This record gives sequence, structure tokens and C-alpha cells, in this order.
Amino acid sequence: MATNNFSRLLLSNRGICVRKFSTTVELAQKKYELLVIGGGTGGCSISNKFASKLGRGNVGVIEPNEIHYYQPMWTLVGGGVKKLKHTAMPMASVLPDKADWIKSRVSKFDPQNNQVTTSDGDTISYNYLVVAMGMQLNYGNIKGLLDALKTDDRVCSNYSANYVKKTYPALSNFQGGTAIFTFPNTPIKCAGAPQKIMYLAEEIFRKNGKRDGTKVIFNTSLGVIFGVKKYADRLLEIIKQRNIEVNYKTNLIEIIPETSEAVFQNLDTNETKSYKYDFIHVTPPMSAPDALRESSLVNEAGFLDVNKGTLQHTKYRNIFGIGDCTSAPTSKTAAAVAGQSGILRKNLQALLDGKEVYAQYDGYTSCPLITGRGKCILAEFDYDAQPLETFPIDQGKERWTMYHMKKDVMPPLYWRILLSGFWEGPRFYRKLMHFGRGK
Ligand SMILES: Cc1cc2nc3c(=O)[nH]c(=O)nc-3n(C[C@H](O)[C@H](O)[C@H](O)COP(=O)(O)OP(=O)(O)OC[C@H]3O[C@@H](n4cnc5c(N)ncnc54)[C@H](O)[C@@H]3O)c2cc1C
Repeated sequence: MATNNFSRLLLSNRGICVRKFSTTVELAQKKYELLVIGGGTGGCSISNKFASKLGRGNVGVIEPNEIHYYQPMWTLVGGGVKKLKHTAMPMASVLPDKADWIKSRVSKFDPQNNQVTTSDGDTISYNYLVVAMGMQLNYGNIKGLLDALKTDDRVCSNYSANYVKKTYPALSNFQGGTAIFTFPNTPIKCAGAPQKIMYLAEEIFRKNGKRDGTKVIFNTSLGVIFGVKKYADRLLEIIKQRNIEVNYKTNLIEIIPETSEAVFQNLDTNETKSYKYDFIHVTPPMSAPDALRESSLVNEAGFLDVNKGTLQHTKYRNIFGIGDCTSAPTSKTAAAVAGQSGILRKNLQALLDGKEVYAQYDGYTSCPLITGRGKCILAEFDYDAQPLETFPIDQGKERWTMYHMKKDVMPPLYWRILLSGFWEGPRFYRKLMHFGRGK
């Protein structure tokens, strides 16, 4: 995709100029009270919270991209409900005016000296560091996939701005046969998204009169359909009603576009099996970004090693993490970032005030499981995989209201309130709607 043209268009349309340091010398001497790595959901939320408190020039954000994408909307882009342009804003417009945007990439961490090095070779110092680098998409780890994504219109992936635009045309042009949806053998962001697009696709096939004679297959590396029993039970009913085949512990290892084959490995037996595809939606393997994975800041699984309650690094007390790149054992979503941002605000402020961290994150996360146009199960749960529902109704049912929330209410909430640092999750409203009872 021509990201540069797209970003130029957005930037010129809005008359926004990108803030960037002009010389290496300036940066080489630069030290911030708070340095934030990443200008995604978590990075924007935290930098916006602290830029005003700490004052102009005291917060730096290192982020290489000129466009900030609202990734949760990509499911609806793939399903033909929204356009990619509805999910994009210039990075300059979502980062705080009072912070310095360093348009570069962190390549090295030096936590002992409170420094990071960028890919431009600059070294930047900090008193406090927040790591918000999200997940890296490792499409290259599946043999043949990158080529197939470039050359085969039937091979799609909602997980990247580069490929999400392929999905809806491919679904619309589908003439019947086998449609496969995959879930990789790694942690991923939004664990519901690999199946949400499947339900939207199955509905499109039905509406287009292509469902008879079509096999819809969900090949997942996991051993369950969803990690929370209440929602998993409901999803399994839907899967049965809609005649979808699910194969567990089945991991995609190769795509061969020339012969329309997708090769999967059974994770229990190691046996491989080849499927012919007429459409395939691939969720790529993911990891923390390489620069973080290769640092001393990660746990054995390669994620920023934080205390799951306080979100403070387990070894360096002036380092915190937020979002997908951390070891916090919850489902990685923007909703989780919202919940975490309130904890970080309190704990980072406590350290700035010379006190100890105290706030504890309960693992709150949410996944709007879209099961069709106008239908959504709003899953909300905590570290114990127990439902933590905001509304005083059974959220395990498919509801139009929840779909409307996802499609129309959450985007402005994201752009205006979460990124600007004001939305810290629905805890207050949950208590209100349950008359103060519950968590
Ligand atoms: C298809 C899809 C559907 C989703 N659906 C939902 C949903 O319905 N609900 C929901 O809540 N969430 C959903 N999500 C997940 C949600 O988008 C993420 O969990 C959320 O954006 C995580 O925020 P983050 O700040 O951790 O990472 P990100 O928002 O991804 O930001 C990470 C930032 O770090 C930057 N970065 C990376 N490496 C470096 C480096 N070396 N130096 C400097 N900067 C770097 C990146 O450029 C990026 O801007 C979905 C995601 C996808 C892809």
C-alpha cells in the first residue's frame, strides 16, 4: 500500500506539520523526565496524560510512523462495513502538543544508564520510561505467506494496514469452495479478531448465494475457541448453527499459491496436512518488537517483564509498560490499554511525587465478538477469565446494541477520549449500572 502518499494526503488535508528534531546534536544531548516508546494506543494515552502535568519539553515520544491507525476497526474494514481511511489519523494530531515527537525507532535499550538508542544513532536519556511498543507482525515466519499476500488476491489478512484492503474484495468475489481462517501458534493482539472476520465472511457468502457447497474452516493453534467459558459456549453454538468446521491445535506453516494449498501442522502429533483454499484469511504469528525482545527488559517469553498488578518493570522501578508488548497475562486489546492507563497514571504519578506504587490492574479486557452485521457479543473479563460485564444484561447474547457500540460509539471514544488520556476503562459505569455491587 502507498502509505507515504496516503499520509501526505492526510497531512496536507489537515494542514498539520510533523514535529521532529532537526539535528542529531540536539537529540544526543536530550534528556526527558518521561520518555514514551511508541505512539500507538498506549503511548498516546500516557503521553497525553503526562505532557500537560510535566510541562512543555519534558515528555518525549519515540514513534516512527506518520499515521496512527485505529486497528480495532480493521475487522469492519475487512467485512466491508468501513473503509481503511476511517481508521487513520496523522500521528501529529494524536500526540500531545507539549511533547516532543522523535520520529524514529528505538533500536537499543540501556536501562542501567537510563538511555535508549534510536535507529538514527541518537542516544536519548530519561528519568522515567514507558514502553508501549505493541506487537510485531511476523508474516515472514510462515513460508510463502509474504509472496502469497502480494500475488494472490484470495490470501488476506486484516492485521495489517498493508493487506486489510484485500479482504472485502476477495470475500465479495468468492465463488464458492473452501474458505479457511487461521489462528497462529503465538500470543496475538485481539484474540477474537481471527474468528470475527470468519462470521462476517460466512454471512457475505450466504447473502451472495455462495454458501451451499462452501466449506468454512477455522484452523486454530489453540485448544479452545475462546478463553472465557461463558462466551466460548455461545460461540460454539453459533459455529454449529452456521455449519463451520473447527480444527484445534492446527497451525499454519506454509502457503503455496501456485497450487492453492495451505499446509498446517498438528501441534500434538506434528503431522502435516494440506488444504486446498479458495479464500484464506491469515492471522500472522506475532511477538514483541525485535528491539525489545533483544533487550534485557523481557521475560522468557520475550515480553516486557512487568508486575501484572502495578505494571512496573520487575527489575527497574523507573520503567513501566502498557499494552500489547508487556507480560501482563491478559488478552491484548485497546480495551485493556484503557484499563491499564489509569493504573499507570496513578503509579507513575506516585513515583514522581516520591511515593510508592499502589494501584493494581485487575486484567480488565474486552473483545466485541462480531458475529455478523448487526450482531455482537461484548465479551469483558479479567485476569481470572471471569466475565466483568459493564451492562446489567446478559452480554453473552448476540445483540444489535453491542454491534452499534462497536461500530459507532467506540471509534469516537477511542479518538477523542482514550488517546487523549481521559478514558481509563468502564469501571465507574460498571459500578453505576450494577448499583455499586461487584468489582
Ligand atoms: C484486526 C484487529 C482487530 C482488533 N480488534 C480489537 C477490538 O475489537 N477491541 C480492542 O480493544 N482491541 C482490538 N485490537 C487490538 C488493539 O488494536 C491493540 O491491542 C492496541 O492497539 C494495543 O495498543 P499498544 O499501544 O500496545 O500497541 P499499538 O497501538 O500497536 O502501538 C505500538 C506503537 O509502537 C510503535 N513501535 C513499534 N516498534 C517501535 C520501536 N522500535 N520504536 C519506537 N516505536 C515503535 C509502533 O509504530 C506503534 O505505533 C485489534 C487489533 C487488530 C489488528
